[in-house]
Amino acid sequence: MKRELTCIVCPIGCSLVAEIEDGKVVSVSGNTCPRGKAYAETECVAPKRTVTTTVRCIGGRILPVKTDRTIPKEKVFDAMKIINNLHPVLPISAGDIIMKDVFGSNIVAVKNMF
Ligand code: SF4
Repeated sequence: MKRELTCIVCPIGCSLVAEIEDGKVVSVSGNTCPRGKAYAETECVAPKRTVTTTVRCIGGRILPVKTDRTIPKEKVFDAMKIINNLHPVLPISAGDIIMKDVFGSNIVAVKNMF
């Protein structure tokens, strides 16, 4: 079975074709660097995503946050439900952990907010 993908690792967006046999990726073509091959192999077997969103801090200001690692794609909506209930207290610096271990990733602040 062949699967066509667009690599999302960098803005070039190479068109990839992954050949899958018995649930395993046996070849990848169309990538112009090794990161594209790795992306296709993961995307076809166990897709993962970085979550970027915002939280409302105590006092009402909106803070951009993200996961510091990728999480399983099927857990993104569950992660969003958890993140939506976070209301951190300012001040916060970029990189501060807002919550630990949400499906294997920490939720971190993306910018300073005082
Ligand atoms: S294959 Fe490499 S160059 Fe092409 S989009 Fe992916 S990361 Fe970028």
